[in-house]
Amino acid sequence: MLHQIQSGLLGLSLQQLSVIAEEAGQPGYRGRQLFEALYGQRICTISDATALPKNFREWLIERGYVAGIPAEEKRFTSIDGSERFLAKFSDGQSVETVWMPEGDLGEAGDGSEAGEEEISPRSHRRATICVSSQVGCAVNCQFCMTALLGIERNLTAGEIIGQIHLVLNRHRVDVEKERINLVFMGQGEPFLNYDNFMEAVRLLHEGTGIPLSRMTVSTSGIVPRIDDFGREAQRPKLAISLNASNDEVRTRIMPLNKKWNIATLLDAVRRFPLKTRERVTFEYVLLDQVNDSQADAREFAELLTGIRCKVNLIALNPGPEILFGTPSARNVATFKAVLERAGVPAYIRRPRGRDIYAACGQLKKSAL
Ligand code: SAH
Ligand code: SF4
Repeated sequence: MLHQIQSGLLGLSLQQLSVIAEEAGQPGYRGRQLFEALYGQRICTISDATALPKNFREWLIERGYVAGIPAEEKRFTSIDGSERFLAKFSDGQSVETVWMPEGDLGEAGDGSEAGEEEISPRSHRRATICVSSQVGCAVNCQFCMTALLGIERNLTAGEIIGQIHLVLNRHRVDVEKERINLVFMGQGEPFLNYDNFMEAVRLLHEGTGIPLSRMTVSTSGIVPRIDDFGREAQRPKLAISLNASNDEVRTRIMPLNKKWNIATLLDAVRRFPLKTRERVTFEYVLLDQVNDSQADAREFAELLTGIRCKVNLIALNPGPEILFGTPSARNVATFKAVLERAGVPAYIRRPRGRDIYAACGQLKKSAL
């Protein structure tokens, strides 16, 4: 027992859990009960799964099974109410997960929800959780602090889900009553960990009970995976980090543009099968005097011709070792106005948790 390797149950499918139940000599429906305890009830320890008979719980514990929720290594609270969690996994690696109460309207919403906030708390609480998909990132965008970590490893499906459960449990969220958005925009490139990411999405939907329509995945533009994603029968919404209006600038700030340039990326977006009323989101990080001129905005709008989309503008969140500047609020507003005049819906993403380095691109564990 003492030297047994722990094995997390979170991330396993109903079928896999049913096999375990069978191995334990339990009737078939115990697999479903275990699934419900892990995802629906979001248990932290196997002993909490009180719907299961004691002998089954003991059997699981004796064999080294654990629920698999990561430990909360650190938590920082911002003056704006957002929280940054450092979730630590069994191998000692950690990633960051951010809780943003009342949602970040520029993030998952389309801006139209502003002003309709309910006064009654709890049952109408809204929040967005920003989730990591890898420890570090291999993509090396020049404005992003995660890039400085390099890539350590992929997260498993269970680790992706575990981060979310950690945050939901701390806030005692009832996913049926409260409106929780998930954005896969934390550390890492979800489309370079595609299978684990999609498995996590399925389990979060079927088990945890978060609707797919409240999930958005952001990619820096891994073209073959965008095509795969389009073929999924059930999937979250898609956001693309474009960040530049021409290849010269994009290659400079996102070296992966050498592999899949803007035309190749936008071709993939054009053939992406959107659902009724669905739009693709383009994210555009504004870097002072690099990609934030009115000419850039016009060129950007031109690129988007014929794509059903909206744009989220993000003024650079500065950080140590990031060699770009943040444009003035006035420049950001002008950029937005140019896009809108060209018929492109554009929103400015409100920075959250800047004071605790929790804003986009600032998720670097050594930052504080
Ligand atoms: N790897 C994925 C998802 C995580 S990054 C992707 O790149 O899309 C999430 C968003 O944060 C991206 O749109 C990225 O362009 C943006 N971002 C990265 N660094 C930033 C910074 N320093 N300031 C503002 N936004 C940043
Ligand atoms: Fe990776 Fe996204 Fe950061 Fe680029 S912006 S380095 S893809 S996390």
